[in-house]
Amino acid sequence: SKLINKTSAEVITKLIQIGVMATINQEIDFDVAELIALEFGYEVEKEVSNDDNEDSLLEVEVDDPNDLQPRPPIVTVMGHVDHGKTSLLDAIRQTNVTAKEAGGITQHIGASEVHINGKKIVFLDTPGHEAFTSMRARGAQVTDISIIVVAADDGIMPQTIEAINHSKAANVPIIVAINKIDKPNINVDRVKQELADQGLLVEDWGGDVISVPVSALKGQNIDTLLEMVLLVAEMEELKANPNRKAVGTVIEAQLDKGRGPVATVLVQNGTLKVGDSIVAGIGHGKVRAMINHLGKRIKEATPSTPVEILGLSDVPQSGDQFVVVENDKLARSIADKRKEKLREEQMKATQKVSLDELFKQMEKGELKELNIVVKGDVQGSVQAVKQSLEKLTNDEVAVKVIHAGVGAITESDIMLASASNAIIIGFNVRPVTSAQSLAEKEKVDVRTYRIIYKAIEDIQAAMKGMLDPEY
Ligand code: GDP
Repeated sequence: SKLINKTSAEVITKLIQIGVMATINQEIDFDVAELIALEFGYEVEKEVSNDDNEDSLLEVEVDDPNDLQPRPPIVTVMGHVDHGKTSLLDAIRQTNVTAKEAGGITQHIGASEVHINGKKIVFLDTPGHEAFTSMRARGAQVTDISIIVVAADDGIMPQTIEAINHSKAANVPIIVAINKIDKPNINVDRVKQELADQGLLVEDWGGDVISVPVSALKGQNIDTLLEMVLLVAEMEELKANPNRKAVGTVIEAQLDKGRGPVATVLVQNGTLKVGDSIVAGIGHGKVRAMINHLGKRIKEATPSTPVEILGLSDVPQSGDQFVVVENDKLARSIADKRKEKLREEQMKATQKVSLDELFKQMEKGELKELNIVVKGDVQGSVQAVKQSLEKLTNDEVAVKVIHAGVGAITESDIMLASASNAIIIGFNVRPVTSAQSLAEKEKVDVRTYRIIYKAIEDIQAAMKGMLDPEY
């Protein structure tokens, strides 16, 4: 806020508007900061510094290009709801089931491997750009290629556009699977036109985006789709060095009653071995056992292999980085520092922000402020309530409407009010259920009215309570 010459309240309001429930002493990551700066018309550049954190204990191993070998691609399936992401993942796994496996139960570990033409492709099992981007927000880029599924009978929809934009933002190449081609009366050309409108020109229209018409339901053309994944992977020249200590990312993790913390990790570089000392997020330990996507115990996992690992002290979060270190002692001390940092962050998050931190006016002198969030059913009444309330400002108390909008009172309104010690006035609207319970938890005063002057009366009374007593 200092650099762009805005008050912290303005920055916090913007943050909450984009859905980040920030308080004043909370750290925000680079991507969020960049978004906010853009909102205010500033461009930002990232400055990279390597000191002052726990990872300075880690040596960064740089690979000699001669040591690099090709590695399999990691693929995420994205697209609009009901366009067939889950069905496509199922169909892909089906094409790969050998007769022997078919009867058995394959264990779910969060990612699956598929073999085609003697080559391997790894699919992350949680489809959707939300999972993809939440990992990215934690600094982990796992996906090499994204398959965007578009149902031929529905065309490009809002979440398709989000998926395209999220992939583009991450610089991840896109393959489009035009799905449900078994349906009657579909128009593949219309989908291609809509893709072109989004800046994705398919190959047969002279562009460079590969699109494959498929039917996940009938298992049609799935082989071609997989071959195209291999083709793109080849062009990307994906490489890693299998002969070094492993690093990678936690895909998912949980506490298992019998087995303790269990994490599915994706080895991104190096080879992970049973017995390695490892740090994963706040967890550390020796890798006691590794289980592959078929539920089989393995001793070693090479680059681009997803494996479930046992032996961690604590449960890491998905998106956390894992790294193999020299010995257990180092692993523990890195994990301890991370835990310490996490505790500090949690402490900060529970401290309520006071008005004086948020508003310059409070620093200046005696001025008292009453902050209000106004929500109403129509724009006209919202504006009327806002103006009438602000007119109540007198020499001693300033009435400030920090946010005014149309619609029900939501969780983000509550968080905004909580962060700025504001009360909420709803005019012909009510809080949604989740907002109601959040308001109770955050101790935010939510008042709803049907008549404007009733609201004014109440606020006037409240202001009297705030006035210094006169004798
Ligand atoms: P998701 O929400 O993107 O994961 O979509 P689903 O995989 O759950 O599929 C949504 C619906 O579309 C289900 O009823 C599927 O059976 C159906 N569906 C998926 N793929 C096809 C397909 O290729 N052809 C037809 N006709 N239906 C499909």
